[in-house]
Amino acid sequence: MSGKYAGKLSEKRTGKLLMAAIPAVVVGAVAASLIPPLILERIVDSLAAGKNIAVSLALSYFLFLALAGVLEAARECLLVVFGQKITHDLRLKMCRKLTRLPAEAFVSQEPGVMVSRFVGDVDALDALFTSGIISMFADGCKIISIFAILFVKNRGLAYVLLILLPFLFLFTRTVQKRMLAAQLKNRAAVGKVSGHVPETIRRIRMIHTFHREGYMREKYDRYIRESYAAVERTNFYDAVYSPVILVLNAAVIAAVMILSSAEDPAARVFFGMSVGTSVAVINYISQVFGPIESIGMEIQTIQSAVAGVRRIREFLKLPERERGTVQAGRMTAGNPDLCVELSDVTFGYESGIPVLENLNVSIEAGEQVTLTGRTGAGKSTVFKLLLGLYRPERGHVLICGTEAAEIADPCKRKLFGYVEQQFSPVPGTVLDQITLSDGAVTREQAVRAAVLVGIDEAIRKLERGYDTPCTPALFSQGQWQLLSIARAVASEPAILLLDEITANLDSETEELVLEALKKAAGNRTVISISHRLYESMGGRKIVIG
Ligand code: ATP
Ligand code: MG
Repeated sequence: MSGKYAGKLSEKRTGKLLMAAIPAVVVGAVAASLIPPLILERIVDSLAAGKNIAVSLALSYFLFLALAGVLEAARECLLVVFGQKITHDLRLKMCRKLTRLPAEAFVSQEPGVMVSRFVGDVDALDALFTSGIISMFADGCKIISIFAILFVKNRGLAYVLLILLPFLFLFTRTVQKRMLAAQLKNRAAVGKVSGHVPETIRRIRMIHTFHREGYMREKYDRYIRESYAAVERTNFYDAVYSPVILVLNAAVIAAVMILSSAEDPAARVFFGMSVGTSVAVINYISQVFGPIESIGMEIQTIQSAVAGVRRIREFLKLPERERGTVQAGRMTAGNPDLCVELSDVTFGYESGIPVLENLNVSIEAGEQVTLTGRTGAGKSTVFKLLLGLYRPERGHVLICGTEAAEIADPCKRKLFGYVEQQFSPVPGTVLDQITLSDGAVTREQAVRAAVLVGIDEAIRKLERGYDTPCTPALFSQGQWQLLSIARAVASEPAILLLDEITANLDSETEELVLEALKKAAGNRTVISISHRLYESMGGRKIVIG
C-alpha cells in the first residue's frame, strides 16, 4: 500500500471517529452537568433532616462536576479539530480552483472579494461547526433536559419559565442584533481610522503643497467619532443585558420561593418542594439562561455561515479555463519550423471594445522582433494571446502551426520564457525564484541560467547562497530583473517574450540587463516590447495598432 493511500485511509478513519465521538461527548457533557444539582438536593435534604451525609455522595458531587468540565473541554477540542479538518480540505479545493480560473476572472472580480472567500467565508464555515450547529444542539439538549427535570421537581416553575423564555429569547436576539450592527460599524470605522494615517504619510508632500492639512485632520476626526459612537452603542447593550438577566433570574427565584411557601393548597401543588429541591431548582434556573443567550449567538453564526457557504459554492462553480492538450514536443529552440503567426486576429476584452483588429504578424524561427505602437495599442495583449491566456475572437494565433490556447500547460515553460516589467517573487529561497519549485528545472539548470545572466556572483555572496530565504531587500531592482531573466531562461525555452523589461531601470543597470539579454537570447526567437532593446540588439520592428 502506498504511503499516500495509507495516509488517506487513516484520514478517513479519523474523520469517522470524530463524527462518532462528537455527539457522544456532547450528550455526555450535558448529562454530566445536570447530575450535580440532583446530588446537591439529596445532600441538603439529608442535612435538613439532621442526617449525616455519605462521603460517597459528596465525592460523586465533585466527580460529576469534574466529569462535566472534562467532557466540555473534550467537546471544544474535538470541534476545533473537526472544523479545521473540514476547512483545510475546502481551502485546498479553493486554491486549486483559483489556479484554474481564466485570466478574465481576475479582472472582473475584485481581489479583495476573492480574498474574503478564502478568509472570511471559510472562517464562517469553520465557526458553523465549532460554535454553530453542534453547540446549538448541545444548548438545545440542555434546555430540554432542564425543563424535563423541572417538570418533575417543580411543575409551577417549569410553566413560569415556559412563559418567560420566549420573551427572554426575543430580548436576547434584539440586543445581539443591535450589538452586531454596532460592532460592524465600529469595525468599518476602525478600518478607516487605521488606513487614514498611512494614507496621510504617503501623501504628506502633496498635502503640504496644497495646504490640505485641515482636510485630512477633519476626516480623521470624523472617522474617530464614528468609531466612538459605535463603541458606545456596543457598551450600552453590553451593560444593559447582563443586569436584566441577573434581575430576571433573581425575580424568578424569589417568585418561586414565595409561591412554594404559600399557604394556598393550589399553589403548593404546583410550587411546593423540599429545601434540597429548592437548592437544585435554583441551580437549574441559573443554568437555563446561559444556553438561551448562546443559542442567539449560534443562530447568528449559522446565518453568516450559510451566506458564506453560498458564496463559496458560487466561487467553486465559476467556469474554469479551457486547458490545452497539445504537446509541444517539436517546439524547441533551433527548430527551423518554429514560426509564430497571428493571422487576421481580432480580440477585445470583456468590455467588448476591440483592442486588436485584423492583426497579421509572422515571425520566423530565431528572429528578433520588437513590437511598437502607442500606449494602449495592445502590445502586451499580443503576448497574452501568444501565451494562450486568451483566445482571439476571430483569426488564429499559431505557434508552429498549433493554436496557442491548445498547447498543454506543462509544455509552456519549455516553449516560452516570459519577462515582465516587474519581478514577481514567490515565497521560498533564491533558488525557488528561478526554478519556481518546478521539478522539470534542476538546480544545475538554475545555476547555469544565473551564470548566463550575471547574477550568480551576487547570489553566491549571500549568507546561504542559492538557499537564502528570499526577502525584498536581498537585491537591487536591476538584480531582480536579472533574476527574472534567469527564471525565464532556466528551462531553456524556444521563445523569449520581453515586456518593457528595462522600463524601471537607470541607464547603467539597463546596460547590464541588456548585456544579460544578449547572452540569454542565443538562437531563440525573441519578441520584445522595448525601444531600448531594439536599439541595442537590432532586429525587425512590427507596429501594433
Ligand atoms: P502600454 O504600452 O501602455 O503597455 P499596451 O500596448 O501594452 O500599452 P495593452 O496592455 O495590451 O496595451 O492594453 C490594450 C488595451 O486593453 C487597453 O485599452 C487596456 O485598457 C485594455 N486592457 C488591457 N488588459 C485588460 C484586461 N485584463 N481587461 C480588460 N481590458 C484590458
Ligand atoms: Mg504593455
